[in-house]
Amino acid sequence: MKYLSTRDKEKSVSAAEAIAQGLSDEGGLFLPESIPLLEQAELESLLKMHYRDRAVFIMGKFLDEFSKEELLSFVKQAYSENYDDESIAPTHFLNDSTGFLELWHGPTCAFKDMALQMLPLLLTASLKKIGEQRKVCILVATSGDTGKAALEGFADVSGTSIVVFYPRDGVSDVQKLQMTTQRGENVLVCAVEGNFDDTQTGVKEIFGDKDFAEKLNEKSIFLSSANSINWGRLLPQIVYYFSSYCDYVNSGRIKMGDEIDFCVPTGNFGDILAGWYAKKMGLPIRRLICASNSNNVLTDFIKTGVYDRNRKFFTTISPSMDILVSSNLERLLFMLSDDSAVKGWMEELKTTGKYEVGEKVLSAIAADFDCGFATDEEAKLCIKKVFDTEGYLMDTHTADAFVVLEKLRREKGETFPTVIVSTASPYKFCDSVLESLGQKSDLSGAKLINALEEASGTKAPLPLCGLDGKRPRFSDCIAKEDMSKAVFNFLS
Ligand SMILES: *Cc1c(COP(=O)(O)O)cnc(C)c1O
Repeated sequence: MKYLSTRDKEKSVSAAEAIAQGLSDEGGLFLPESIPLLEQAELESLLKMHYRDRAVFIMGKFLDEFSKEELLSFVKQAYSENYDDESIAPTHFLNDSTGFLELWHGPTCAFKDMALQMLPLLLTASLKKIGEQRKVCILVATSGDTGKAALEGFADVSGTSIVVFYPRDGVSDVQKLQMTTQRGENVLVCAVEGNFDDTQTGVKEIFGDKDFAEKLNEKSIFLSSANSINWGRLLPQIVYYFSSYCDYVNSGRIKMGDEIDFCVPTGNFGDILAGWYAKKMGLPIRRLICASNSNNVLTDFIKTGVYDRNRKFFTTISPSMDILVSSNLERLLFMLSDDSAVKGWMEELKTTGKYEVGEKVLSAIAADFDCGFATDEEAKLCIKKVFDTEGYLMDTHTADAFVVLEKLRREKGETFPTVIVSTASPYKFCDSVLESLGQKSDLSGAKLINALEEASGTKAPLPLCGLDGKRPRFSDCIAKEDMSKAVFNFLS
């Protein structure tokens, strides 16, 4: 299967090239030239499989230059004892029409692990396949969860190094502690003054800097991305939509072929886009519900067709969704518009911060997506209500999605079977979750974890308990302008 770029249809690269490169030269995102369609019998064959085999099957559809043996060895490394649940991505049912797809049983307790335990394997294998001799340096801008998950995936992987930048004003205490205590000889973690968009812009500028690339090339190093713009990150995420659907059928609550909705807490649009791919591959999904927090650019866009990032930026209790420019939306727009409009819209976004898609794209979006947003207040009330009435503890991002789902259900007067994609362990956002439960949250770091265990009567995931007493290895905070210098010094 060939891959093309959202800004150059004539481009044609292999999966290995797309994964190795991350972003296309002209700034576009890679995507497969066509979407493989699953037959009913194939879908049924997934029912009896373990998550690992479902992953081999689904990913194999897009990776014909990787053998089945290769993929089997990848899933064995990416999805096994490093997860604290044998089924890897279990769906927890609140009742017959509402399930939570728990994507946080991996080493960093957030859904990013689903992709980032796999990406280093796909990437190093891809580099071999294309005969790349240079070393790769992974450059990451993170709003919190990507950074730790990427560090955990790439730590001490030979032939790679990794640099993670996070916004000083915009990650939780636990997230910061997770990153600054990262082990590994090939890792650098650094705070940047400003918010996530500043950090992401800084990283994009480094990627676009030809002189910088040449300087690194002289050292036989090149840059690649572990952000969700890399196809190698999107692909593993398609799997869990299939897996959760199968688990829904296996639970006896729906029949094979029945449609369900997925409700997805959304930031960069990577998670929900993977769901859209699953739908187009033939998984019986009626609608994907795009849930935002107060940074509701996507809600407005899906409703009106106008994408406008010129608005107040909110720092919320769901920081991984505090995003005004959702990179992966570009892939959806490319798939839904039959001309080369995308390039123009992205130009407009860069220069004016705004673009408008036509009626045709807007109605195509409306056919596949619903949307809504939740305020911090609503999310907190929801965490308390669901804990008090159902004994189920959600994190703040998952709560945003639940709020949006409940609003839509009220509006439409229906209760359609829905899986809420649960993207983080509540223990990653202890302070906000504690506050929601009406408890004191002014403790710091590991103490918060103990407090939440007491307040909720649940156990913290092991990797987070281990943070207690660990010393941070990284403490630098730099200005955006100094980011490339920091990368260069680290690699020198
Ligand atoms: C990254 C993240 C999201 C948003 O996912 P996108 O793919 O960026 O839309 C939601 N919740 C949590 C906990 C995350 O880490």
